[in-house]
Amino acid sequence: MRFNDTPELATWRSTVRDFVHENWGVPKPADEDMGMEGPADETKTSAWLDKLAERGWLAPAWPKKYGGADMSVLEQFVLSQELHEAGAPVSRQMLNLVGPTIMLHGTDEQKAEHLPPMLHGEVAWCQGFSEPGSGSDLASLQTRAVRDGDDYVLNGQKIWTSGAHRADWMFMMARTDPDAPKHRGISYLLLSMKSPGVTVRPLINLADGHVFNEVFFEDVRVPVRNRVGEENRGWYVGTTTLDFERSNIARAISAHKSVNRLGNYVRGRASAGNPVSAAYRMEVADRAVETAICELLSFVVISIQARGGVPNMEASMCKMYGSELSQRISWTEMHLTGLKGQYRKPQGLEQDTGIHAAMDYMTTVPATIAAGTSEIQRNIIATRGLGLPRG
Ligand SMILES: Cc1cc2nc3c(=O)[nH]c(=O)nc-3n(C[C@H](O)[C@H](O)[C@H](O)COP(=O)(O)OP(=O)(O)OC[C@H]3O[C@@H](n4cnc5c(N)ncnc54)[C@H](O)[C@@H]3O)c2cc1C
Repeated sequence: MRFNDTPELATWRSTVRDFVHENWGVPKPADEDMGMEGPADETKTSAWLDKLAERGWLAPAWPKKYGGADMSVLEQFVLSQELHEAGAPVSRQMLNLVGPTIMLHGTDEQKAEHLPPMLHGEVAWCQGFSEPGSGSDLASLQTRAVRDGDDYVLNGQKIWTSGAHRADWMFMMARTDPDAPKHRGISYLLLSMKSPGVTVRPLINLADGHVFNEVFFEDVRVPVRNRVGEENRGWYVGTTTLDFERSNIARAISAHKSVNRLGNYVRGRASAGNPVSAAYRMEVADRAVETAICELLSFVVISIQARGGVPNMEASMCKMYGSELSQRISWTEMHLTGLKGQYRKPQGLEQDTGIHAAMDYMTTVPATIAAGTSEIQRNIIATRGLGLPRG
């Protein structure tokens, strides 16, 4: 089955494509080589994101009065498709997690204080949900917030907090009533990372990068006016944030590009008189079929959203399949490139083979953990989706 745009969507797609080509450029042929796309230049990225913000395209689902574009689901989908196809940055970190949460549950003061600077990249945010004993079972979190006059006093620890070392603010959940059932004693707070008593310690990941951190709170004072929603009802505010965390088409597009790179590599080897074996060719063919499935799962999610529905099992299928596929693709890349794929460009060295299969593989490992592990997604599909009994 082939999916075609309606005439209106086709016009919208060409508007977006022209804008992207004019302001970001088209991917260079080098991007089709084996290996990761290099990080974009920071100044170029920031200028590009400002241009998106001017049009409301940085937060396409937000209402216009908050700087969004009030786009339909299908318009957002086309925009996202075109930006990802061009390898252009689509958003500022956390913008589409905490922004809509404040919009839905925040006070007018919170909206006025936080939404404009978020949109214009003037502040960086991090997400303080996971704790050492509370990841999948997030509602068991133990960080305590005790009311003291106009403040809460915060004590406890968060973990795996991406970007905390660069963040100005954290959106987080803390326990305000330890005697209530676990989902009902939690409040959702906005915390300035400059508050006295906040300590950030780096955690180095498998690929030797500093992405996430541990964050400790020792008698940190958070004004009560920084609570989003009612006291002890923060779990329900937090689940709004989690709903916004599920994405879709980006994974399918990235898989598509990676499979193209694998194909180019195999072709290049053949024309250099060093063809890969038939078994490897078949492995690439398997990845191509799986990429098509991944794309179809994204379309299922989008079509539910376009009809005004809320994808549930379908979003879990999409997340689980896409993240596991990214690992299979980079596994195939490692098979194909062998020892050459283990190469890692040392800092400052100009010469680069363009093949970083091992690095690619390591960067896909967390995909099946972050934003709900594969096991949790399978549980959702089995119980909520198929109605199977809990074990
Ligand atoms: C790259 C990355 C970035 C992250 N960024 C952030 C961030 O910015 N902010 C933040 O708050 N968190 C962040 N996280 C944390 C992430 O949300 C958690 O790692 C995730 O929810 C899993 O929790 P856990 O690590 O505590 O594992 P656990 O929940 O302890 O799970 C351990 C294992 O047990 C399995 N398991 C758990 N429960 C069940 C069950 N009921 N049935 C079957 N199997 C089960 C899991 O699937 C997993 O394999 C990040 C994680 C990664 C990898």
